[in-house]
Amino acid sequence: MKNEMDSLEFISAAEKGLGACPHCRLMIQFPHGGAGKQTVHCPRCGAPVHLRLPFSIQRTWALIFCAGICYVPANLLPILTVIQFGSGAPDTIISGVKHLFADGQWPIAILVFVASVVVPLVKIGVIVCLLISVHARWRWRPRERAAAFYIIDALGRWSMIDIFMISILVALVQLGTLATVEPGLGAAFFGAVVVCTMLAAMTFDPRLLWDSAR
Ligand SMILES: [Zn+2]
Repeated sequence: MKNEMDSLEFISAAEKGLGACPHCRLMIQFPHGGAGKQTVHCPRCGAPVHLRLPFSIQRTWALIFCAGICYVPANLLPILTVIQFGSGAPDTIISGVKHLFADGQWPIAILVFVASVVVPLVKIGVIVCLLISVHARWRWRPRERAAAFYIIDALGRWSMIDIFMISILVALVQLGTLATVEPGLGAAFFGAVVVCTMLAAMTFDPRLLWDSAR
């Protein structure tokens, strides 16, 4: 079995001119075995079906580059300011985590640290590695690389937890002069990181991992 996987002697569906609809999973035979038209519309649900997503690598590189740039101000600029009784200083993600730790709220501190600092960084790192593996036509463990992609894709929506927290705080703690919570510029950059990484996961075509593995 291992030797079979190592040699990777398989024929891809695309080579047979077959593509699956991303919405209803209908298998579609492309005209001329996929040699001519690379995009058709699903006869069952009408969704566009591609043998491979067009410009997948270029779009994913562009989005992940944006995410990488926005990650810096997202961590350096204040993400929110809590003003209690007229005083308060702006907090970055890290200083917020430190405050939570100091207050003894370490479960929330760990949650915020993992969701806001670790997860976006891991996502960017994994997508960059996958892109490089496609460029370099790695034959190494395509199954595991595809699994890494699906985990990153599923993780996407959970990194919004910080933005949810800020929006809930802002909505709840508008007590006028007693206490206010104001979102900072870092929150906008953080939102941009999350959106860019989510879009990058959407534009990356995991089938390319198998193409490059052959
Ligand atoms: Zn369909």
